[in-house]
Amino acid sequence: MAIKAIKGMNDILPGDIETWQFLEQKVREVFGTYGFNEIRTPVVEKTELFCRSIGETTDIVEKEMYTFNDKSENSLTLRPEGTAPAMRAFIQHKLHNLDPVNKLYYMGPMFRYERPQKGRYRQFHQIGAEVIGVENPMIDAQVLAMLHHYFCAIGIDAVELQVNSLGCPDCRPNYRKFLVEFLESRLETLCGDCQRRYQTNPLRVLDCKVPGCKAATLKAPAVLDHLCGACEEHFTAVKSHLDTLEIPYVLNARMVRGLDYYVRTTFELVTDQLGSQSAVAAGGRYDGLVESLDGPALPGIGFAIGIERLVLMKGGEKVQASRPDIFFAAMGEAAAEKSFILMSQLQRAGIHAEMDYHGRSLKSQMRRANKLAARYTLILGDQELESGEAELKNMDQSSQEKVQLNDLAALIARLTAQAVLT
Ligand code: ATP
Ligand code: MG
Repeated sequence: MAIKAIKGMNDILPGDIETWQFLEQKVREVFGTYGFNEIRTPVVEKTELFCRSIGETTDIVEKEMYTFNDKSENSLTLRPEGTAPAMRAFIQHKLHNLDPVNKLYYMGPMFRYERPQKGRYRQFHQIGAEVIGVENPMIDAQVLAMLHHYFCAIGIDAVELQVNSLGCPDCRPNYRKFLVEFLESRLETLCGDCQRRYQTNPLRVLDCKVPGCKAATLKAPAVLDHLCGACEEHFTAVKSHLDTLEIPYVLNARMVRGLDYYVRTTFELVTDQLGSQSAVAAGGRYDGLVESLDGPALPGIGFAIGIERLVLMKGGEKVQASRPDIFFAAMGEAAAEKSFILMSQLQRAGIHAEMDYHGRSLKSQMRRANKLAARYTLILGDQELESGEAELKNMDQSSQEKVQLNDLAALIARLTAQAVLT
C-alpha cells in the first residue's frame, strides 16, 4: 500500500498554498512596520526547555509533547510552541546586548500530540511575535494594535479580542488561596486531572475543557478581582491605551491561558466560525520567563496565531495563483524548439512563460493556455518561423498584434506593460 502522511499532519498543496503565502507576506509587511525582525530557531529543542518554561503540570507538557531520545540518549522534543525557543535563542546570543528592546517574529511548524479534528492538528503552524525589554503598558497596546492591524490586512473581521490580567507573583498567592478554597468545595465535580492538580496548579482547572470542570468553575473567583496595586495600574493603562487607539476588545475575567509563564496582560482572539476550536490567536506577558531560563531579568510580551485556523476562516476565498504572462503554442518540431528558446529567454527576464511539452494539436494547446489563464499566447508554426513574425494574442481582450520573433526586447516590453496593468 502506498505510504501516507502521519495522522494530524497535513500536506499543503498548490491551490491552497497561495492563501498561506498571502498570509505570510502580510506578516512581513505589517510586522515590519512595527519594527519586528524575523527569527528562525530549530524545530527540535532539549525537552527541559519546555518543561521549565511552559510548566510541568500543563496539558502541553503532561500530554501533548512529541518527546524522544536521540541516539546519544538526549531527551529532545519537537517544539510545541515558539516563545520558549525564541527566549532560549535570545539568551544564548545575548540579543539584549545589541539592543535593549528586541522585537522578534517567527513563522513555522509546531507539534502537539492532540486528537486531530477540524482546526486541531498534530503538526500545525504558528505566526508569533515577541517583544523583550519593555515594561511600559504602551507596548501591550502596541502588540494588540499590531495583531488587530494584521487581521484587518488579511481581511478577517469575525474575531473578538478578549483581554484579562493574570496578576503577578505578588498578587497571585493571595488569589490562589481563594481559588483553592473554592475548588476544594467542589472537588467531587472536577475531572481526575483537576482533582490531582488543583493544589499544585489551580489556574489550570479554570482552563480545563471537560464540561464538568467548566460548569463547576463558572462562579470561581477571578484573578482580575485580586490584582495588586501595580498590576491594577498596569492593566488600567493597557485598557486606556487600547481605547485611545480605538482597538475594540472585551474583558474576559475567566481566561487563564494554558501555559504557566503568563503574568499580567493576557489575551485571545476568538471566533464563533470554527466550532470548538474558537481561539485563532492568543498571547500575553511573560515577565519572569527570560530570567527563569537563566537570562537577564527582562520583561516580555507576545502572541501566536494559528495559521490553519486563519486558512479555514478564509474558507473558499481562493487567492489567485500566478498567471502565465505568455503561453507558446507550437506546431511542429522546429517551432517547438524556437518556442523553447524564447520561453527560456523570457523566464530569465522575469516573465512567467509556459509552453506545451507534448506536441499536441493546436486545439489542445489552446485549451491548456486557457486553463492556465495565460494573458497572451503566441502561436508558432513553420510559416511564422520563415517570416520571423507571429501573432501575439491577448487572451483577455481577444485582440491580436504582430510581433517580431527576434525582437526580444520589444516582446518583453509588451508583456511587462500588460503585467503591470493587471
Ligand atoms: P486551544 O485552546 O485551541 O487548544 P491553545 O490555548 O492550546 O489553543 P496556544 O498554545 O495559545 O493555543 O497557541 C496559539 C494558537 O495556536 C491558538 O490560538 C490556535 O490558533 C493555534 N493552535 C494551538 N494548538 C493547535 C493545534 N493543535 N492545531 C492547530 N492550531 C493550533
Ligand atoms: Mg491547546
